[in-house]
Amino acid sequence: MDGKRYTNLSSELRRVFGEKVGKLALDGGFTCPNRDGRLGNRGCIYCGERGAGEFTHKKIPISEQIRFQTLDNYKKWGASKYIAYFQSFTNTYAPLDRLKELYDEALANPGIVGLAIATRPDCLPEDVLDYLEELNRRTYLWVELGLQTIHQDTASLIRRRYPLSAYDEAVEKLKERKLRTVTHLILGLPGETSEKILESVDHVAKTGTWGIKLHSLYIQRDTDLYGLYKKDPFPLMDKEDYVKLASEALTRLSEDMVVHRITGDGEKSLLYKPEWSADKLGVISSIDRYMKENNLKQGCRFKL
Ligand code: SF4
Repeated sequence: MDGKRYTNLSSELRRVFGEKVGKLALDGGFTCPNRDGRLGNRGCIYCGERGAGEFTHKKIPISEQIRFQTLDNYKKWGASKYIAYFQSFTNTYAPLDRLKELYDEALANPGIVGLAIATRPDCLPEDVLDYLEELNRRTYLWVELGLQTIHQDTASLIRRRYPLSAYDEAVEKLKERKLRTVTHLILGLPGETSEKILESVDHVAKTGTWGIKLHSLYIQRDTDLYGLYKKDPFPLMDKEDYVKLASEALTRLSEDMVVHRITGDGEKSLLYKPEWSADKLGVISSIDRYMKENNLKQGCRFKL
């Protein structure tokens, strides 16, 4: 647990690979059905121009993106193994041959020991699931699903454009194929009370998803959420409340769920509010401190 009171991704990867493993955020040039007109044109209201992949390098070949990031970012951290993270937009939303080309290209690079693929639950047809199952036998793989909330009123407001049942079914199908799933939740969406947010956490905890990402809500200037806030400001969580809520969320997860993220991490130059969310390390250490002071641990309030 890296001295933490929850199972974080870096300690899990160290346990599996015996050393530090870095993550390289990649842009495979995908779009999203929620942006290309199939389901919608403007995407989820918090989605920026770069499709939730604010640190990626669109239009550069995958191998070059990997080489660039390996040299530029990770050499100084001493990692020699990496997960290739297909982050921007919907990374299974392309013909199967294209997916194979991209993922295989990533895996052919030295040091790449696994793949992380961010997608939507409604973009996992059977042939893609078959391929992911095969990939999972060849490498360490996980699939990320952006659920954000279980509540349909909020899902409509954020324009997610799939029902909770699609998420539940996708998790079941991924589990049947022994594929690891990581679920994203946003804490602090407009109109959601702490009780509603924790209902989403409890739901996800019960699905048996392998990992979770908890994001604090932040507003970037390049999103429709920014316009919504400017027109009709809604309450944003302050840091103290977020720290308490994220800590409470961690207590409700099963002990072995891998926590990939416990705060939001947007592009600083585009961040509008809340300012505190720019200090990612400060938020993480406040959560660590709060959990210690209150003798809380991941799983201590988990109920099946
Ligand atoms: S599903 Fe993901 S990529 Fe598509 S619009 Fe929503 S946040 Fe953006």
